[in-house]
Amino acid sequence: MNRTFVAIKPDGVKRGLIGNIIRRIEHKGYKIVGLKMLQPTLEIAEQHYAEHKGKPFYQSLINYITSGPIVAMVVEGKNVIEGMRHMMGSTVPNDAQVGTIRADFAQTKECNTIHGSDCCESAEREINIYFKPEELCEGWKTMMEYVWESMPEES
Ligand code: UDP
Ligand code: MG
Repeated sequence: MNRTFVAIKPDGVKRGLIGNIIRRIEHKGYKIVGLKMLQPTLEIAEQHYAEHKGKPFYQSLINYITSGPIVAMVVEGKNVIEGMRHMMGSTVPNDAQVGTIRADFAQTKECNTIHGSDCCESAEREINIYFKPEELCEGWKTMMEYVWESMPEES
């Protein structure tokens, strides 16, 4: 099990896609252990996207992510970082596989509806930007975890 940081970006919130995106995450069997809506401040946005500072799209990215509320989540699951990236689809929506969130809901690479961490280090860094440890709800089981317990051990 590992964990990742996921955010429904302002376009996703404004378009009423919160429920649809959360449903996909829950249907996959992932465990949402942190969840909140917030309006990102400039400071938070700059911390989140520090790796992109200096790139041509940096300022428009900061303007975009601070343009309205986002829904921030911490999501757990087996290989969840890769799994969420797969569910999100490529950064450029027209390169994303049909059925992924970005292919299904977005048209431009600037305004692509969802964020998901790209590796373990990014996930921990991003979770710490958006959540305090006490805001995470651990110690409960999803139905998927009960099902796994009822299965033979994986070889
Ligand atoms: N972005 C952009 N123009 C670009 C590339 C990226 O506006 O040419 C934005 C887009 O919202 C993207 C975010 O910057 O999701 C972060 O870029 P990254 O390359 O990390 O893509 P991601 O990890 O989100 O797929
Ligand atoms: Mg990225």
